[in-house]
Amino acid sequence: MTLQGIDTEITTLNSRKTNLPERARIAALLTERKRLLENYTQAETQVSDLERAQAKAEADLEPVRARKVRNQERVDAGAADPKALTGLISEIEHLTRRIGVLEDAQLEVMDELEQATARFAAIRARRAELEDSIRALMVVRDSELAALDSRLQHAAAKRETVVEKMPSALVTQYERIRDKRDGVGAAELVERRCGGCRLDLNSADVTAFAAAPADEVLMCEECGRILVRTARSGLPD
Ligand SMILES: [Zn+2]
Repeated sequence: MTLQGIDTEITTLNSRKTNLPERARIAALLTERKRLLENYTQAETQVSDLERAQAKAEADLEPVRARKVRNQERVDAGAADPKALTGLISEIEHLTRRIGVLEDAQLEVMDELEQATARFAAIRARRAELEDSIRALMVVRDSELAALDSRLQHAAAKRETVVEKMPSALVTQYERIRDKRDGVGAAELVERRCGGCRLDLNSADVTAFAAAPADEVLMCEECGRILVRTARSGLPD
């Protein structure tokens, strides 16, 4: 494999590491989780407030109901004189109306509590769901990163082997061009066209390149990249 081929592979692997789709999905889920947690405490507080309100509604009803029962027992026992009896009956009517009002309030609180409880349960469920998804995605991301890192290590070792066999001046020259030319320092010459800038050689270059010894480093006149000669370069014999 050519040095350029290995460097392209290294660039591709690094870019895949940066652009792993799991990264974006994890970030999106973390954002959703953050928004959800902003409502979490509010929903939780609402439930406990309404639970307290429900207990209070029940506590408010209890003495009124008890008093009504007591009055009713006295009426039923027939123990009261007519004047007291009228008082008891009128109080029973008043207590009955009062119980109705308190029960309406209690039902309203129960209804609100039911809604708040459902809302809080939905937030908790979504939170658990999000956290499971995030954990699962992190596992996938980490295993993909590990696989890419191992391929990068392999490519780096391969690069070292290739570089060792090349003249160091040529490696330096190649690296300088690569840094200036979007990561491509050398390109194959295909059918008299530079694989880097895709421009055709002029006829003077074709003649000069055809005559150049095999170990001479050829450069593209247009983009300055090192040109790699192969059987399909299209140079005359
Ligand atoms: Zn070129």
